[in-house]
Amino acid sequence: MNDTNATSVETRAFDAEVHQLLKLMINALYSNREIFLRELISNASDALDRLRFQALTDPELQGTGQDPAISISVDPEAGTIVVSDNGIGMTRQDVVENLGTIARSGTARFLESLSGDQKADAKLIGQFGVGFYSAFIVADRVTVETRHARVQNDEAVRWSSDGKGEYTLETIARDQPGTRVELQLAEDHADLADADRIKQIVRHYSNHISFPIRVVSTAAEEEAEPEIVNDTQALWTRPKSEISDEEYAEFYQGLSGDLQAPAQWAHHHVEGKQSYSMLLFLPGQAPFDLAWNRDDRRGVKLYIQRVFIMDAAEQLLPRYLRFIRGVVDSADLPLNVSREILQDSPLLDKIRAAVVRRALDMIEKVAERGGEAWATFQHEFGNVLKEGVIEDPDNRERIARLLRFASTAERAPHSVSLAGYLERAGEQQDAIWYLTGDSMDQLLASPHLEAFDKAGVEVLLLTDPIDLWLVNHLFEFDGKPLKSAASGEFEAPVDEGAEASEEQKQAHDQLSGTIKKLLGERVGNVRPSKRLTESASCIAEDAGGMTLQMRRMLKQAGQDVPPFKPDLEINASHPLVQHLAATGDEHRRAELANLLLDQALLIDGGELADPSGFVKRVNRLLAEPATDGESE
Ligand code: ADP
Repeated sequence: MNDTNATSVETRAFDAEVHQLLKLMINALYSNREIFLRELISNASDALDRLRFQALTDPELQGTGQDPAISISVDPEAGTIVVSDNGIGMTRQDVVENLGTIARSGTARFLESLSGDQKADAKLIGQFGVGFYSAFIVADRVTVETRHARVQNDEAVRWSSDGKGEYTLETIARDQPGTRVELQLAEDHADLADADRIKQIVRHYSNHISFPIRVVSTAAEEEAEPEIVNDTQALWTRPKSEISDEEYAEFYQGLSGDLQAPAQWAHHHVEGKQSYSMLLFLPGQAPFDLAWNRDDRRGVKLYIQRVFIMDAAEQLLPRYLRFIRGVVDSADLPLNVSREILQDSPLLDKIRAAVVRRALDMIEKVAERGGEAWATFQHEFGNVLKEGVIEDPDNRERIARLLRFASTAERAPHSVSLAGYLERAGEQQDAIWYLTGDSMDQLLASPHLEAFDKAGVEVLLLTDPIDLWLVNHLFEFDGKPLKSAASGEFEAPVDEGAEASEEQKQAHDQLSGTIKKLLGERVGNVRPSKRLTESASCIAEDAGGMTLQMRRMLKQAGQDVPPFKPDLEINASHPLVQHLAATGDEHRRAELANLLLDQALLIDGGELADPSGFVKRVNRLLAEPATDGESE
């Protein structure tokens, strides 16, 4: 970078990505154009927060002398809007990095996730740090003048762009640290250069920004003092009784970038040995990457005596509650607190426990309300909440009570609670049965369910990847153990008079032995099934062992899985098995034994080690007529 040539204007190209992003954004958000102002105000507010926080520990940053504030001036004649702040400002390098490139990987994801649905896309914009660029929705030129609080007044920078692929950079002089963003409105957005309109937008989207926002029109000379438009008193410091639902909702929307109202909130002032306020929100909808982006921990802001300190979701929220949004304001933590101190602060541990308790309270309230709100919660957050059973043993019972599953009785996802299951099951049923698999269709066709169907016993059908881990951590609920329907522990009630005779039993055991010999190292054990009614064979999971599905997942994740010798159960009354028992053709017998095993593996969603061998075998068996007589 050549800074000696201070007066010359340097032209640079955007990252290819930025250009692409701008075009997409302008199209996607055209009808939500007003959010550009929320984004610029939020940046200004962040810059003021950062200056205030850094000034606590860095005396060099002090001395700007003015109260932190945001001012917006509107010029209807020129068609411009200017948003200024006296916050931390940016260095030349900051400007290049922040406004010329998109370093954050979130942006790439934003691009991928654009759906063409404007409402959904608008919801994303606040969550992806692409905020600044939203200025180009309404402006055909944006000019930023900024000076970092640590640099001299002749080291300020002017950045300017029409958003079409290039921007210019220029070193300028600027009296005060801070940032000024000027938008030259495009013709069809010129109507926004209206002070009343802007005030309305500020009140709507940014009312609870904690710094004063002044709006002034250059056209109205009679207006001497610019008016403070927003309500700067931190909402969470006010008594609950004085705050309306609308105010809570607006505050949440400003905090989260969500355009919807929250599903629930919890507002508490705690006084005593340790004093703090907290205001937590349960959103009505999830950000699209909630399930897999487990590291996005931006939900809860930590304030100390009303000074914003940092995003402290990592310290205050367990991962499984990462969708919660809110504010915690401590009266006791030292202002110059660092991340490291926070990491093992007993003070913070207490607050964290309270945050978790209140968050679960909110979810329980929605559960009590039931209906659509609860269905929506389950749909949006149900799977993430399941992580809590694994992550938070202290609250396991409470969390388990909030989980909902599909079952053989109610096939819709997230419909059956464990308590509801037990109520239907009745006292005498001694376990909660579940079956895990990749899809509903696979599970419903599973031979493992045959005995349960026959006995009229409900089975939970678990198809989410997280369910596999869940059942490995949730051993029991209300005193009843959770057991896999694939484990072979369930015995179907035997029909009157259909009990196998001793003789038959012996024959079945013998047949199992024969099949075991034929399959050799491919299987652990072979045994007659007490539960199959329609299928010829199935894999029996040993209780506590690794399921096929779990093995597949570990394999996909690149982990070593121990060699697998499944136990096979055979249905002695099935024609295929009877045929095997009866045939004198050794070769055919071996083929049939292998077929029984391969079928069972396939039905469980397993992979065959030798699929082409399987297909050849089936074809041979279908084509070859039996070579000897079968005794029926
Ligand atoms: P985000 O605010 O989500 O990080 P933006 O695209 O809105 O993304 O802004 C990019 C970065 O530019 C910000 O993170 C901040 O570092 C810087 N920035 C934007 N506006 C200002 C401002 N008014 N003062 C200081 N820095 C700013």
